[in-house]
Amino acid sequence: MTTVLAYVGLGSNLQDPAAQLARAVMELARLPQTMLQAQSPFYASRPVGPQDQPDFVNGAVELSTSLPPLELLDHLQAIEQAHGRERLRHWGPRTLDLDLLLYGNKTLDNERLKVPHAELANRDFALQPLLDLNPELTLPDGRRIDQLRAQCPDNRLRLLLPLAKTD
Ligand code: AMP
Repeated sequence: MTTVLAYVGLGSNLQDPAAQLARAVMELARLPQTMLQAQSPFYASRPVGPQDQPDFVNGAVELSTSLPPLELLDHLQAIEQAHGRERLRHWGPRTLDLDLLLYGNKTLDNERLKVPHAELANRDFALQPLLDLNPELTLPDGRRIDQLRAQCPDNRLRLLLPLAKTD
């Protein structure tokens, strides 16, 4: 069985977004045939599209998995559903969005799945967490993630520090 490194982007702007992401990371860690290798810090970002919605919290994880890409997507969508995901409007608010950003060095383009994710190069809130996970990361076509990050539109990304425990 071939194992690949897959990178999943996480986003939320409803119902305690940072907690939604933390829960989703644990759920990703429990997927079959999969191990969570690393988790990026979380960032706050301005929404893409309609601005009359809360800021997003974003992050990414590195998974080693032997799940085929469409099976991995099935699992990502099941986790989104379990978080009560409703698609109210395009680019609108959501409790949890999981995107398969990279799947090894593969390029996939079918009805359900485009990898690398179609918008990756335009989204600092996806590129920055990928860089945190692996500064040397490249797309299958050889483009470097750090160069894409330097060129991409600015979404006013802010690093979210964990809240200090007071007890
Ligand atoms: P979204 O609104 O971003 O959650 O888009 C979900 C839709 O995008 C689903 O119908 C997926 O089948 C499709 N899709 C295509 N490529 C990807 C990808 N790399 N990761 C997640 N969803 C994808």
